[in-house]
Amino acid sequence: MPEGDTIFRAARTLNRALAGQTVTRFESAFPRLNRVDADSPIRGRVIARVESRGKHLLIWFAGDLVLRTHMRMNGSWHVYRPGERWQRPHRDMRIVIETAAFHAIAFNVPVAELIAGDALARVPVLNDLGPDPLSEHFDAAEALRRIRSRSDLEIAEALLDQTLIAGIGNEYKSEVLFGARINPFAVVGDLSDDQLSAIVSTAVSFMRANVLDSASSRNVTYAGLRRTTRRADPGERLWVYARAGRPCRRCGTPISRRKQGPYARSTYWCERCQR
Ligand SMILES: [Zn+2]
Repeated sequence: MPEGDTIFRAARTLNRALAGQTVTRFESAFPRLNRVDADSPIRGRVIARVESRGKHLLIWFAGDLVLRTHMRMNGSWHVYRPGERWQRPHRDMRIVIETAAFHAIAFNVPVAELIAGDALARVPVLNDLGPDPLSEHFDAAEALRRIRSRSDLEIAEALLDQTLIAGIGNEYKSEVLFGARINPFAVVGDLSDDQLSAIVSTAVSFMRANVLDSASSRNVTYAGLRRTTRRADPGERLWVYARAGRPCRRCGTPISRRKQGPYARSTYWCERCQR
């Protein structure tokens, strides 16, 4: 599922294909986008850059207009050469941005808005974002301070709160806590600064390892092969996520699973490694 690393790779791929190019066609299934496009046409604008912030993807057009999308569970951006066959059905198309060299298509993206660049800082979901481990400006001390400020939360819930640290989703949540050897149900107030630091630095190393540049991420923006174990075998790419009942890769104890938090998201952990 799209987490911060997925969006980072999507933004990088889109930026490579689109930055500096002029939009030759814009189409959308969202009436809100089409209304903005009717008033201030996207066609004819140069695409300045594409970037990620946490799980948000921002496409900047000349004239200070920004397209913000959020993929939630099933959204994705693809890049095609003109005339190339789409890998998703047309009914899943939400946004099309064409240039002379590339076509960028958003499929099943549930959240999209076109806004003025100077209004972006006032969009609460962006303005309130915590430090992003994939940003070159990542501030680990600030992430730790924000997580610490929610001493009432179980640590797995804190990691999903995008205002504390940005980009972590349900898969990284379990993987990072296994990597740091912390029980997901531990309350933040009971964890030491050293433990919180270990969690934050594990998040950074796991997420950055998944945005290394590779030939496979150049076209379809979501390859879907997130890896935290550094093992080559695709069947061994994660430590605990979606491995309930299977042996822990470190100690052999069967991996546990329990629903956690207000949204009942599945949490996976090893009871022995993460006491
Ligand atoms: Zn274990």
